[in-house]
Amino acid sequence: MKISADLHIHTALSTCGSLEMSPSAIIRRVKELSLDVIAITDHNSIENSFFVAELGEKDGIKVIYGMEAQTMEEVHILCYFEHRGDIEGFYSEIYDYLPMMKNDPEYFGDQVVVDSENNIVRFEEKLLLNSLDIDIETLFEKVKHYNGYMIPAHIEREQFGILVNLGFIPESLKNSVFEISYNAELKEIFEFYPFLRNNNLISNSDAHYLEDIARAYTVYDVTEKSINDIYNAALKGEYRVIRGKK
Ligand SMILES: [Zn+2]
Ligand SMILES: [Zn+2]
Repeated sequence: MKISADLHIHTALSTCGSLEMSPSAIIRRVKELSLDVIAITDHNSIENSFFVAELGEKDGIKVIYGMEAQTMEEVHILCYFEHRGDIEGFYSEIYDYLPMMKNDPEYFGDQVVVDSENNIVRFEEKLLLNSLDIDIETLFEKVKHYNGYMIPAHIEREQFGILVNLGFIPESLKNSVFEISYNAELKEIFEFYPFLRNNNLISNSDAHYLEDIARAYTVYDVTEKSINDIYNAALKGEYRVIRGKK
């Protein structure tokens, strides 16, 4: 079957994410847009994904547990897990790699955990928009250990993109799947990085606001709505990137 998936959405737990990004508002919008699968990928955090998943299940929307990690190389990597136990195990290790720096809500905005009924559960006090004290290779080992998948985010971007900040693709990520920004120009990317022609480039919205959800998304050919199937479809080239709103 063909499924429409936006695998890069932030919630109110991301400092730069708008407070309007509550689990219920996100699911309402995703339903309007008729997406089949989404992933919640907050910066160095995971908690709101459980509440979004809870609501998604009621509405037949598959929500994949995710996180957007910022490694010590200042590179953003999307990490995905099928099972809650796996991402929880993964995150219990990751949180310790986040520097003990307090968020300044006046400057960065609040980092809010919001449940499925719009109640504020708690404020995350550690600044999430920071680099983890962990390199890409070690992150890769940890994600693999917990049966997860990694996709480098917005790889062509100057800020936090792997190509600009690292300058090369590490061995563990060769011949894998990469995300390009919702507004990336493919022609320009291939001019700068010709080797990317042989790679699988998917796209997502990287939405921090409701109106941005699905400004880019990808249609995959899968047998079931699992991250395993989606990732393998991407690896096999069985996908199509859609730009612009649904
Ligand atoms: Zn990012
Ligand atoms: Zn992002």
